[in-house]
Amino acid sequence: MANTWQQELEVAVTAVSTAAKLCRRVQSSADFAELAKADRSPVTVADFGSQALVCREILAHFSTDLVIGEEGSEELRQTEQATLMNRVLTEVQKIVPDATTDQVLAWIDAGDHRDPAERAWTLDPIDGTKGFLRGEQYAVALALLIDGQVTVAAMACPNLISGDGQHTGLLFTAVRGRGANVRPLEHLEHIESVRVTETASSQDAVLCESVESDHSDHGRSASLQTLLGINKPSVRMDSQAKYATVARGQADIYLRLPTSKGYQEKIWDHAAGCLVIEEAGGKVTDITGQPLDFSRGSTLSSNSGIIATNGHLHAMVVAAIQNEG
Ligand code: AMP
Ligand code: MG
Repeated sequence: MANTWQQELEVAVTAVSTAAKLCRRVQSSADFAELAKADRSPVTVADFGSQALVCREILAHFSTDLVIGEEGSEELRQTEQATLMNRVLTEVQKIVPDATTDQVLAWIDAGDHRDPAERAWTLDPIDGTKGFLRGEQYAVALALLIDGQVTVAAMACPNLISGDGQHTGLLFTAVRGRGANVRPLEHLEHIESVRVTETASSQDAVLCESVESDHSDHGRSASLQTLLGINKPSVRMDSQAKYATVARGQADIYLRLPTSKGYQEKIWDHAAGCLVIEEAGGKVTDITGQPLDFSRGSTLSSNSGIIATNGHLHAMVVAAIQNEG
């Protein structure tokens, strides 16, 4: 009988919804205990706490699985970061009361794998940390790769609002071949399917892109929008919430246009979102129209940028990029 990945999906839902609780508490406290990593990108108490909780949940059920997570414990282990470490422990203990410092560090470090094996999870404990710091969109993004193919995805978007306006905080899931769903973070039992739009004409399309112009080239995007005849204002938001926005039909296109030649997209920034859109009926490739290859390590080293669409508009967007002058 075909594997339905039901247990993996349930574990992933528990993992990201539990981590989202920690993130929401920290975001509403507005005390992020932020520090800059070696690459100068920000990391907060919630990034570490979220990674610890997700890895703990995965390893409790699948002890031999690998996790390819964004964070490591190196900074936290430095004596000058004792205050931050204590804050991470305090936040984790609100969910796992008997957790110890050593356990929290070990859970974070469980996410230090870099090469996808037969079974490996990609984890961005807070995708869109800059959005998180601004009080805006972010996501806890988790995906299971089987032989380098995204097979299960769970993505919590704690600041996205449900279509009926009743719930803030949504959890998107997808299993390859079995569709994509959404549920409120506060009502995990209320599951609905999500579907991309049927928009077939670029004049009617809504495009979404990063807030940060360092992450996607806004100038080139504006020229492409002119080329495609897109006149509706683009939606800018942080994190893989953009994939969720296209998957649930609130935008038609997500564009991520490289800002530098050398940058390789990280697999944890795209794996979960990619499957959610595909299973909602959409399409995801790089800007040359090639499928994303998640089997090459921690980066999408054979791809450049991202185009995600409702499917109908895909060829048109790829062609516009190929033909831009
Ligand atoms: P977003 O919120 O969509 O703008 O993307 C956030 C992610 O962008 C972070 O998780 C980073 O891993 C990633 N990132 C950092 N630098 C770059 C870059 N130069 N180009 C594209 N993505 C980047
Ligand atoms: Mg990220």
